[in-house]
Formats: sequence, structure tokens, C-alpha cells
Amino acid sequence: MFTSITVCLDMFGCPNRCKHCWIGHSPNGNLTNDDLKFVAEKFRPFTNCLKVYDWYREPDYKDNYQELWELCHSLSDTHEKHFELISFWRIVRDKEYVKWLSSLGLEKAQLTLFGGEEKTDYYTGRKNAYNEIVEAIEILIENKISPRIQVFVNKDNINELPFIEKLIQRLDLENRCKSFGGEFSLFLHQGSCDGENEKLYDIRVTPDDLNKIPQSLIEHTLRYFHKTSIEEVFGKTEQMLYEQLIRNHSTASYVSPTPVFYVDREFHVYPNIAPPEPSWLLGNLKTDKIETILENYTESKSVAQHTRLTVPLCNMVESQGDCKSQRLFSEGDYIEYLLNTYCRK
Ligand code: SF4
Repeated sequence: MFTSITVCLDMFGCPNRCKHCWIGHSPNGNLTNDDLKFVAEKFRPFTNCLKVYDWYREPDYKDNYQELWELCHSLSDTHEKHFELISFWRIVRDKEYVKWLSSLGLEKAQLTLFGGEEKTDYYTGRKNAYNEIVEAIEILIENKISPRIQVFVNKDNINELPFIEKLIQRLDLENRCKSFGGEFSLFLHQGSCDGENEKLYDIRVTPDDLNKIPQSLIEHTLRYFHKTSIEEVFGKTEQMLYEQLIRNHSTASYVSPTPVFYVDREFHVYPNIAPPEPSWLLGNLKTDKIETILENYTESKSVAQHTRLTVPLCNMVESQGDCKSQRLFSEGDYIEYLLNTYCRK
């Protein structure tokens, strides 16, 4: 038995194709309520605390999002709050959506910008995304929900940060949130280096880029992450991490008493550790026994789990790392990048 199991079914996918998407791009599905019930029933005997979600890409993407929310509740043992993640695609198309979010007590909602209109449309993978995000900010504020802006930066868009700084000032976001007792927040980061974001490895920020970040955006970011310097947020250079890890003989297990599983539209099951890709595959709910799938997890039998459990970090970094690279990473993101590339070599 697990202390809890969270299972997320990718029922409908996502309207966007973001270039930083750590989950990666795959075709959207069109699954049914019975599919969600089927998935929940498979995991139910293995915990007394099952949590069921109808998404792991875009929340509330399907028109019957309210019905799906109720269905997830009825299939779950706990009643979780709505994530501070919303569908900006829906909020500009469906007037009822924001009212529904408000009725659930949502106080903050996260939106992602990459710079101005051209860069944001490019990185979101959809035309008009920027205009929709700006409209979404207005709708949220009108409904007393504070926007939280996430900005992914790499060498290709870091020069656009002054534009975002001006946008925040022009929209007077701090004062307008304060006026209803809310709090505007913003943070910058480079994101992990997996899924689609791994393709941006070549243009990952280096220490010299950090000087290009406007002071006010640094202050917002430090407040959000509770850090004292922007270097702490962006982490260490690959060279520093390489020198550290080349002496590290440790291995690790990803097995948890409270796992989160992702189930894709083909019913393949993956642990929510890295992108749902072949090296993390635990099995398929239609063709494998659930006992086998869970044993593959607990016995670290997926290729990636087995590799992390048996191959010391020094071997992985020697094989996949670049000892001269100045690209910035958090240690955890770098280890995961090494693991994913090692599994594919
Ligand atoms: S990052 Fe989120 S919104 Fe963008 S493509 Fe991935 S799941 Fe969709």
C-alpha cells in the first residue's frame, strides 16, 4: 500500500506548444469520463488516499471542465484546491470560467511570458498568445484574482526583459492587486532542461547574462523564491557542477510512498519525475497488470529509474557533461538532464 497515489490522465492535451514545455509535445487526446474512471479503479486498491486529475498539461481545457472537476472529486479521497494554474486559452473565450475559478476561492493564477508579442507567441507556439495573456491578466484582476507572471529566460529572449518590466508598470499590477487585498508576483528562471526545454540547451543563460536582468525583476524573483541573490536562483555553471559531480559516486532511488503517476492518452504510465518518455515508461494500463506497473515503479525497473539507481553520478557526468560549459543549472535539474541524455545514448 502507498500512503497516497496521485494519478493524472492526459485526457485532452493542451492548446499550446511551448518551447520550454518540460512534459514535451504529443498529440492531444479526446478521452471519456469512463476512461478516467477506469484509470482511477486501477490504482484504487493500492492506497487509502487516491487523488485523481483529468489533466497533466492544460487544466480545464475541455468545455465540460466543471463536470470533470466534480468527477475527479468523486473519484478522489481528498478534495484538493484548484491549482494556481489556469487555462488562459479558456479564460478569454469562456466568461463563466473566471467566475467558476473565483467560486472555488482561487486567489492567484500563473501566466507565462517570454518578452513582447513576437517572442511570447513564438515560445508559446501559438499566434495571439501574448494578446490573450494580457487580456487574461485584466480578467483576473477584474475578478480579484492576482496574476503571477512566470518568465522563462534564455539567451534569445533575455534582452526583452525591460519590455516586461514596462508592461507591469503600465498595467500598474502591484497597486491594482493591492487594491483588492491581493499580491502581484513575478519570477524569472531558466526552467529545467528536459522535454522541449532540453532543445534550448545551446542557448541556456550563462553568468554574464544575469547582468541584463532589470533590478525590479530581480527583486520580484528574490521575493518569490525567498533567495538573497539572483545567482542562487539560476544556480551554478555546468563546469562547476561537472567538477563537483565527477567526484560523486552516489546513486539514488526515485521511489516514494506518495507517488504521482502520469497516464498518457494511450494509457502508458510514467512516474511524474521527468517527461513522459520511453526511458521512464512503467507499463500500459490496457495491456499490463497494474501490479506489474507498480512493481516496475517500486523495484526501479524503468530504464531511467534503474540507471539512476545503478550508475554513479560521476559516470553519468563523465559521459554526458561538458566540463567547460558556462550554462547555468540547479543541481537537481542538471542531474536529471544527465540522466535523460545518458538513458538515450
Ligand atoms: S508548458 Fe504547459 S501550456 Fe505549454 S505546452 Fe506544456 S503543458 Fe501546454
